Amino acid sequence: MIVVLRPDATESQIKHLVEKIKSLGLKPMISKGVERTIIGVIGEEDILRVQPLEIFPGVEKVMAILAPYKLVSREFRHENTVVNVDGVKVGGKKVVVMAGPCSVESRELLLHIAKAVKKSGAAILRGGAFKPRTSPYSFQGLGEEGLKYLKEAKVKTGLPVITELMDIRDLPLLEKYADVLQIGARNMQNFNLLKEVGLTKKPVMLKRGMSSTIKELLMSAEYILSNGNFNVMLCERGIRTFEEETRFTLDLSAIPALKRLTHLPVIIDPSHGTGKWGYVPAMAKAAVAAGADGLIIEVHPKPEEAFSDGVQSLLPDNFDKLMKDLKNIAKAVGRDI
Ligand code: PEP
Ligand code: MN
Repeated sequence: MIVVLRPDATESQIKHLVEKIKSLGLKPMISKGVERTIIGVIGEEDILRVQPLEIFPGVEKVMAILAPYKLVSREFRHENTVVNVDGVKVGGKKVVVMAGPCSVESRELLLHIAKAVKKSGAAILRGGAFKPRTSPYSFQGLGEEGLKYLKEAKVKTGLPVITELMDIRDLPLLEKYADVLQIGARNMQNFNLLKEVGLTKKPVMLKRGMSSTIKELLMSAEYILSNGNFNVMLCERGIRTFEEETRFTLDLSAIPALKRLTHLPVIIDPSHGTGKWGYVPAMAKAAVAAGADGLIIEVHPKPEEAFSDGVQSLLPDNFDKLMKDLKNIAKAVGRDI
């Protein structure tokens, strides 16, 4: 249920209403828009038949949200959500490019890549310190050491950093070092992890599971918002299909679908989405043309020596060229980069 307040509703009217909602055993989620305030009412709504909220002073109308996801829906919030990542705004006019290695491999290499991607115009540095690998024998990431290198790269370049959170027990550590908590495709339905990041205020990038529908992605995002954290961006990173030429099938139609269904920013990952560096530029350009709010791209100066995902990593020079091309595409669709 959403309660739309009148533009002239007073603070004390809002407070009164919020207390009433709580006393009914429901959870009020307040969204203050430019013109008016909206209160999302979460919980067992049947009680509202006995206690209609329409009669409260300051209330304009009460509407049911038909979608199973409530707080992430466009019905709940009409305007686009802009997530502030330490000064970098994701979801506004500017298309935000996050770039860096798949894994943090060493201090020197990370600093080298960070400087290169910054020079080309990336706004956020990516790099995994905890890696979800298919094989337990593959490189699992440098852990806290990797997080320290990310922090140093941030200090040296000014780029905020995004890194993956795989385990609730690592949350305090990541809260200290990361600007965006990445929830990987394999953890999209790790509901306890989602609840826990929902209790923080850190920006979260939730990646779509490789076998998950758009609705399931939105339901997972709902776990985060319903626990109080509205700083969420969604990431399409390719889904499993019968196609074998690419590692996954990058679902670009998820962009207009998500833009219609939700107010949250939409990020595209053409690196994991294709699994081959040669296909990355075309998909990155198509994503910006289709209305993506951001991209996350893997970059490595020696892909053949990378500890993970070298095959899909762009050389810094190729990334630089892509950024130049993206500027033109962004301009053509009324965006900046
Ligand atoms: C990654 O970003 O390096 C990663 C592991 O992504 P995904 O969870 O989409 O596979
Ligand atoms: Mn990777």
